Amino acid sequence: MTTLTEQFIDNAWVCSRAEARLPVLDPFREAVIGEVTRGDPADVDAAVTAARRALPGWRATPEARRGVYLDTIATGLEARREGLAELSSRNNGKPLAEARQDLDDAISCYRYYATQARDLGERQGQADASGIEGLSARRFWDPIGVVGLITPWNFPLVSSAWKLAPALAAGCTVVFKPSEVTPLPERALAEVMMEAGLPPGVFNLLHGDGESIGAPLSHHPGVDKLSFTGSNPVGEMVMRAAARGVRPVSLELGGKSPILVTEDADLGLARDLVMAGICYNAGQMCSATSRLLVHERLADELYSAIDAAMGAFRLGDPLAPETDMGPMVSATQRDRVQGYLALADREGLHSKTPTLGLPERGFFIAPRLYRDVPSSSHLWREEIFGPVLCAQRVVSDEEAIALANDSDFGLAATVVTGNPDRAETIARRLDAGNVWCNCGQVAPPHSSWGGMKRSGIGRELGQLGLNAYLEPKRITRPAAN
Ligand code: NAD
Repeated sequence: MTTLTEQFIDNAWVCSRAEARLPVLDPFREAVIGEVTRGDPADVDAAVTAARRALPGWRATPEARRGVYLDTIATGLEARREGLAELSSRNNGKPLAEARQDLDDAISCYRYYATQARDLGERQGQADASGIEGLSARRFWDPIGVVGLITPWNFPLVSSAWKLAPALAAGCTVVFKPSEVTPLPERALAEVMMEAGLPPGVFNLLHGDGESIGAPLSHHPGVDKLSFTGSNPVGEMVMRAAARGVRPVSLELGGKSPILVTEDADLGLARDLVMAGICYNAGQMCSATSRLLVHERLADELYSAIDAAMGAFRLGDPLAPETDMGPMVSATQRDRVQGYLALADREGLHSKTPTLGLPERGFFIAPRLYRDVPSSSHLWREEIFGPVLCAQRVVSDEEAIALANDSDFGLAATVVTGNPDRAETIARRLDAGNVWCNCGQVAPPHSSWGGMKRSGIGRELGQLGLNAYLEPKRITRPAAN
């Protein structure tokens, strides 16, 4: 039982002003394994003050030196890899192999932005075309300032790495609020940062819920930028809060991503990509490919292959090596998905997926495919955030593309075809920030991540992810000087 009543502010653990605590659960054992403070707006004030105080010093730290800190953070996580993977698996319910993958992703993200920090140092002051005879211009990149970073529970340590690593590389100081559902693995970040020798106030971590920490952080006038990953309703609140003071926001929100399978696709590959796209992390992925659009010539065969694969899934202890899928992260999440299954019955949707027996305890949902779901269905249009796949059969690429784009969201897409040129042609026409053709959902640190339409604003990862924390500045002067 871990009790997290302290906030990490100015390189010290300080007691939260809040008395209220929230339980932290192991969703497989349905057991309380910790308590976390609800947090208090006064904690936000203290953390933002510390971050503001630290800003001039951190901003003046040479980029290459900031890169060394980031490398040391990566090394600190590497040293804790196995322990943190287990903790994450226990707190989130994801299979241990997936939690290990998360750790590897986080580590490579810090390493990548260590290099980006060094590159940034070299880019500072590069000549820029002045456009006017007799004048010369140079380009600089300043950190945006104090940033408020808010993350959800589905990829602990990864969503935070995608924000923290570029923010620190850019020279921003941060106030980070992880999800109150998975605070246990994120807490280790404070230890890792302290061990890396980060100056006081550069990294501050506040535990708590949306009301006591998230909203006060979003509204705090001492925060220069907000970067939020989570649901659309909360993203809208963060954006409204940021409007006061005209502060920029980056938003990584929901999705209802399509997977398109053409008639010449390899059936086994299509099945595997469909399964990974909806079952990884028990479907609790913003990029879950939850709408299958399959050519009518392959549809019945693919439906049967998916049902067979889902029917063979092993649900169980996320720490056991044989487990394919763990529980939903919480009872709330399980109930939300069950609500959609009940709605599917009311809508008369049709599933032939064998009903899997659920383990005796744990917030489990068995994976399920609904065949030939009309576009008007709630299950077709709304983000379910669970292992629930809806499918439609199509007669042409044209129809598949039109249906794929008929969504409020535009985060990601997968295309499975027998012809790479055809895949590229389809991919170019899809409304999605990432399209994977005949491959799994990879997101290395060099890439970019983010969505079109209501899936968000801005991009994380890669150089775009660094730019999100930088303000470009141009200095012009007479060329002779
Ligand atoms: P959520 O929006 O409920 O919570 C996300 C974070 O916001 C948590 O830390 C929460 O405490 C905080 N929060 C809650 N209310 C707040 C408020 N009023 N002001 C500021 N912060 C507040 O989302 P969740 O349930 O944790 O995560 C699931 C959602 O996140 C899904 O909709 C999913 O699509 C989305 N998501 C998107 C991406 C992406 O990259 N696009 C990645 C992961 C999750």
